[in-house]
Amino acid sequence: MQIYNTLTRTKEEFKPIQPPHVGMYVCGPTVYGDAHLGHARPAITFDLLYRYLMHLGYKVRYVRNITDVGHLEHDADEGEDKIQKKARLEQLEPMEVVQYYLNRYHHDMEQLNVLPPSIEPHASGHIIEQIEFIKKILDAGFAYISEGSVYFDVRKYNEKYHYGKLSGRNIDELYETTRELDGQSEKHCSLDFALWKKASPEHIMHWPSPWSEGFPGWHLECSTMGTKYLGETFDIHGGGMDLMFPHHECEIAQSCAALGHDTVHYWMHNNMITIEGKKMGKSYNNFITLEQFFTGTHPLLTKPFSPMTIRFFILMAHYRSTVDFSSEALEAAEKGLARLKEAYSHLMKLKAGTASTIQTQGLRDKCEEAMADDLNSPIVLAHLFESAKAINTLFDGKAQISEADLKELREVWQLFAIDLLGLRLQEEGEQGGQEQAYHGAVDMLLEMRLNAKRQKDWATSDMIRNRLTELGFNIKDTKDGFEWSL
Ligand code: ZN
Repeated sequence: MQIYNTLTRTKEEFKPIQPPHVGMYVCGPTVYGDAHLGHARPAITFDLLYRYLMHLGYKVRYVRNITDVGHLEHDADEGEDKIQKKARLEQLEPMEVVQYYLNRYHHDMEQLNVLPPSIEPHASGHIIEQIEFIKKILDAGFAYISEGSVYFDVRKYNEKYHYGKLSGRNIDELYETTRELDGQSEKHCSLDFALWKKASPEHIMHWPSPWSEGFPGWHLECSTMGTKYLGETFDIHGGGMDLMFPHHECEIAQSCAALGHDTVHYWMHNNMITIEGKKMGKSYNNFITLEQFFTGTHPLLTKPFSPMTIRFFILMAHYRSTVDFSSEALEAAEKGLARLKEAYSHLMKLKAGTASTIQTQGLRDKCEEAMADDLNSPIVLAHLFESAKAINTLFDGKAQISEADLKELREVWQLFAIDLLGLRLQEEGEQGGQEQAYHGAVDMLLEMRLNAKRQKDWATSDMIRNRLTELGFNIKDTKDGFEWSL
């Protein structure tokens, strides 16, 4: 693995930095609506990879972009910009739409315990770089200008490189499946895609360029921002499987055309989510947003499901398998998560005995092996459930564990369940514990005040009362002592 230190901006100044550095780019959301399950799965999959690489000792630069321009309604080069359309319908400034949904996206990600990436670049903040990238493709002869727009010349590209190599397609088959151009099109060929689009008069998001007042094509932002922040070659590029074609295929073509070589060492795609066996789609009315899951406000849901239940459910499947969501499946996941939480809480309460009379060793190796095997989160969970049984036996007093084994067991649970799988197992217990500590501390202060009063130490008694009142506490002396509220 080799990535470049892009802290210095110009290409000449790029300095290769050696492992343990890893560059990772993941296609982020187009922010024109609330995040749904289709957003949760890649976010959690690549969060798992990010956490795992850091656990292995890599210093990871994780770039996840925000698409805020150029993603047209029909994914190809037609239709209205998704953000502009939302802005028009809601009578907002396009960047208001972006900010609104981005804030909500971040909130949802935090709820799912998805760590923020190292860099979150916006497409609209990289127009200059995208124009420069187009110039390189034009100079290399793999693009053409037509009516103020610039299109990538797929046929020409395919003469030198292989268009379709990532998704296993070939150009002849692709021609057969795409419709013929009607002769009115600006494109030479139906497979060509826009690098720059001239803005129509009603299009409000546009920038000056050498070719027209317009906006960049959707695929271009990832080629541009990936190479800007991670260098001309970098390690990992990820995203949902639905992005493999044409988005990632176009990205490869753009980068090879501009730079003369591939940029990405490893492509990684998470599989799709279906809802009750159906693809998510407008026609099925099954786009359940994350907030609807958390509040239970969608007709397909029987009840609310916590963010951790959603995370756990997604991790129960390997990222390359499909996942089918239903209320019943989520209820089962909720029970499974409750079992893990209970075992974890028991584990924290266990007292060590003189020697172990139950087998708890080997868990670390088994979990490491599963993670190293293509992030096999369901196997890690299976090992944790196996371990939960032993913990419950110990908790019931039917076996003993030595101090060293107990310490190891706690460390392994912390590492795999909490740090790597990112499950908040201690959440409720911890909150309850904080609450308890807070009540205990206030009670203790008021007891000290009562003692001071009994000893006629009015200065101390008044000081405690006044300070607590200043902090917003209501203190009432009663026959038996005191009462307080905030
Ligand atoms: Zn992308």
